[in-house]
Amino acid sequence: MKIDGYTRVCGVMGNPVEHTMSPAIHNTLAEALGENLAYVPFRVPTGAAGEAVRGAYALNLLGMNVTVPYKSEVIPFLKETDPLAETIGAVNTLVRTEGGFKGYNTDMPGLYRAMCEDGVKIEGEDVLILGAGGVARAVAILAVDKGVRQVHILNRTAEKALKIADEVNDLAGRALAKGCGLEDCASLPGESYLAIQATNVGMFPKTEEAVIEDAAFYRKIRIGYDLVFNPARTRFMALVEENGGRAFGGLKMLLYQGIIAYELWTGARVDSGLAERAYGAMKEAMHIS
Ligand code: NAP
Repeated sequence: MKIDGYTRVCGVMGNPVEHTMSPAIHNTLAEALGENLAYVPFRVPTGAAGEAVRGAYALNLLGMNVTVPYKSEVIPFLKETDPLAETIGAVNTLVRTEGGFKGYNTDMPGLYRAMCEDGVKIEGEDVLILGAGGVARAVAILAVDKGVRQVHILNRTAEKALKIADEVNDLAGRALAKGCGLEDCASLPGESYLAIQATNVGMFPKTEEAVIEDAAFYRKIRIGYDLVFNPARTRFMALVEENGGRAFGGLKMLLYQGIIAYELWTGARVDSGLAERAYGAMKEAMHIS
């Protein structure tokens, strides 16, 4: 990589950021596309999110990614927020505009593009969401946006699932979502779900765990997406496959949220060949073969 007086800088702000795979994605894309762009991690201390956003703008940064714990905290410091990011209430990409950064959420478009690449259609499906945290809520919003037939949200703390179901029903203007506890997995009405696993269960180092073990539940899953990306193959995915379904992990969502951010910053279009190259670099950085 050649750094000179014209080099544009992008980066990721978070705390911690040392584990980030984003530099592998963005620096590979920049190099392949011949862009004079460097991408670096920025660890931002607690309470300094606003200063970091203002400082990044003052330093002429082209764009930023925002990760845990600042995805909501940065919003008041932006000039503008994209409507999807505003509905989700979380921003993971800042794009330089006249007078300030504009905030976007590329996590959900990233999941959607990963699904399209995998040949999985969400439109018109019966969708099951496991979990009711920040990401599960965003997936429920994506599901409504893409016109699914119905959504069941199952969570350890049932009240949180019920709350998200109420929110998305308000958004949709009709009762398409239902919330319940994990124990209700035995009485789901459908037989062929697109299931999205959005809890922390099964993440490294507790890789032997799955949020639900019941084989009868997995027999109702035609396609299972685990948003966990470390490990690349989770117990949830194994259970889906053992019971006749197709399973996908969270690595491609991670890749495409980065690719969409890169496209927003530079105006480039990343084709599937280049996406594959960035995917390889990302997996290499994660020591996944
Ligand atoms: P979060 O807000 O902390 O929510 C965590 C969820 O997991 C809650 O629903 C929680 O249930 C549930 N949970 C945690 N431990 C559990 C256990 N032992 N048994 C049952 N349920 C449990 O987290 P988040 O930010 O939404 O992230 C969720 C997942 O998405 C993480 O695994 C993260 O790695 C993944 N993710 C992936 C990508 C990607 O690009 N692939 C991007 C972002 C996030 P309660 O409500 O009952 O506590």
